[in-house]
Amino acid sequence: MGHGYGMTVLAKEKIYSAVSPYQKIEIYDTEKLGRMLLLDGIIQLAEADEFAYQEMMTHPAVMAHDNPEKVLVIGGGDGGVVRELCRYDSIREIDLCDIDKMVIEASRKYLPFMSSSLDDPRVNIHVMDGSKFIKEKKNYYDVIIIDSTDPGGPGEPLFGRNFYHDVSEALRNGGVVAAQSESPYLLPDVVKNLWRFAGEFFQYSGYAMIYVPSYPTGCIASGVYCNEHSVDKPRRSLPEEVKNKLRYYTEDMHHASMVLPAFVEKMRIS
Ligand code: SAM
Repeated sequence: MGHGYGMTVLAKEKIYSAVSPYQKIEIYDTEKLGRMLLLDGIIQLAEADEFAYQEMMTHPAVMAHDNPEKVLVIGGGDGGVVRELCRYDSIREIDLCDIDKMVIEASRKYLPFMSSSLDDPRVNIHVMDGSKFIKEKKNYYDVIIIDSTDPGGPGEPLFGRNFYHDVSEALRNGGVVAAQSESPYLLPDVVKNLWRFAGEFFQYSGYAMIYVPSYPTGCIASGVYCNEHSVDKPRRSLPEEVKNKLRYYTEDMHHASMVLPAFVEKMRIS
């Protein structure tokens, strides 16, 4: 049970269990939510509602950019964000950097609904710590998506001030970042810190709240940042080839998700 809060999900079968150098990886088939991936006992995704998270981690950032061509995903070894990115014909290059090759391998084998686009020719997979990978890239990406585990494990450096500095340097002019930004009910101090760090390096921010029943407290968020323009509305129309395939993100949802409850809005300025 992570962060002193737990959920009970009835499992039908344990599909996979292994300990990598970074974390314990488990995949279950469950009664109500389909296949589920857990890392160190914390739910990362469930087949029944993963679309909400993957779409909202991806499309607000991509649609807040005028014409993204080069994208980096840090974490996200399950392949869900890459799947969403591959829907855009205009995206030409996708780097995926996950620290744990065993997550990627397990997803390829047991979670085909997540990993289906990992072999797309535009995708290059790098197995290393994202906080190190990003230091080697300057002025390169149009969009960077940080699809990390929670702080406390291997994801810890991805929640620090230095990392946000390096992310800002890796972006080209007009670049947009989206970062897994936790639940404001469960980890309010982490949310406040992320806003503070990102605010030092990005002038504009949005915090997209996402309703995902299988995450503790039923929600999680994507922090979206840019230095050149606001991110709370799409900057162009959602391409038809993408629109027809989505189940959660719409142009209206982009804006609506960033209209925040008062207690969350206060975290931005506290
Ligand atoms: N949807 C998710 C959630 O619930 O937070 C995140 C899913 S994704 C599986 C998280 C990935 O981040 C894992 O595959 C993990 O290996 C990766 N990761 C953790 N720390 C990392 C780091 N420092 N650099 C790159 N990848 C990292």
